[in-house]
Amino acid sequence: MKKVYLDYAATTPLSEEAFSAMKPYFSQTFGNADSLHAFGRDAAEAVAAARRRVASCLGAEVNEIYFTSGGTESDNWAIKGIAEKRIRNGGRIVTSAVEHSAVYEACKQLERRGFDVVYLPVDGRGFVSCDALEAAMTADTLLVSVMYANNEIGTVQPVARLAEVAHAHGALFHTDAVQAAGALPLDVKSLGADMVSLSAHKFYGPKGCGVLYVKNGTDLQPLMSGGEQERGRRGGTTDVPAVAGAAAALEYACAVREEENRRIAALRDAFAEKVLSSVTDVIYNGPSNEAERLPNNANFTFGNVAGNLLYLLDLEGVCASNGSACSAGSSEPSRTLLAIGRSEQEAMASVRFTFGRYSTEQDAEFAALKVAECVNRLRQSGK
Ligand code: PLP
Repeated sequence: MKKVYLDYAATTPLSEEAFSAMKPYFSQTFGNADSLHAFGRDAAEAVAAARRRVASCLGAEVNEIYFTSGGTESDNWAIKGIAEKRIRNGGRIVTSAVEHSAVYEACKQLERRGFDVVYLPVDGRGFVSCDALEAAMTADTLLVSVMYANNEIGTVQPVARLAEVAHAHGALFHTDAVQAAGALPLDVKSLGADMVSLSAHKFYGPKGCGVLYVKNGTDLQPLMSGGEQERGRRGGTTDVPAVAGAAAALEYACAVREEENRRIAALRDAFAEKVLSSVTDVIYNGPSNEAERLPNNANFTFGNVAGNLLYLLDLEGVCASNGSACSAGSSEPSRTLLAIGRSEQEAMASVRFTFGRYSTEQDAEFAALKVAECVNRLRQSGK
């Protein structure tokens, strides 16, 4: 049976470039990068090369790049690592209502430990406003964390302007760029961020490997206590194949970004047009302006659909998502969809389709047909 993968925001397949870069470090050059002998030095050289490659993609200094176990660790580290030094006195952290659980739950935890956390609302297209941020800033605000691009509806936030507001009030700025990497420019100086989180499996690299960019001079406490790895700031033996794969994947993704974006956006647009013209009572969630939306994302709310549309689509060979993979299986409606004004029932009747490198015109066409078929079937059976 035909199976179409339209869940690239959940994860991507490993690219050939990444796979080739990883292979030597499993069983040939397998040393511990912290060992002082030749095996260790070879591994350490691979890690150093990966760090240089990632730094170059981000326009960062080599010593501003830290490897982690993924986007979740990077987000947790950025937020808790800044809060740590004020753990006795508390203070304010400002974030948004549409962050991924990795940021949201880290903030919730700090809230329980006495921090004052402000979750900025968003407008109907998912945008955080600079004025709202300005109004939320206080003298004791230590950190602002707003994602670069939303994982559910693709909204691209004005991070450079938000960072300016944070800095004007003496706060640090972190952005979760997990969904943006590979699709949007990543120059950290233009973003103006003090910390930027990435996750390799979102840009055709391996799962379980992330990056945290930390601007030099940022007083970030370690999250992971242990050895002296990552210049003493993140203990734990480095996963050498993973970091080599992550660097190769990122370099390739940045090199083909513009060309790939054009092709993927065209597929997404053709799909969205077909869905919108063949299904009644449907809302296309997120910004309509190309420049303000991730090129691969289409998210719809289908009215008058009782029953599990995702499940039916899967049976018909279309693999999509109801939002974050981390909340898959959860019966909770998406926080992002509620924040943009959807009701709980509407949020539960919404589906995210995300295209990627290996998506084809046939995939887009097949999926649009199946969406119309499945929605109509559920509507008929609900009568
Ligand atoms: N942040 C965003 C925006 C994400 O979409 C994800 C994953 O879906 C994460 C963080 C977590 O990344 P990881 O899966 O590497 O832990």
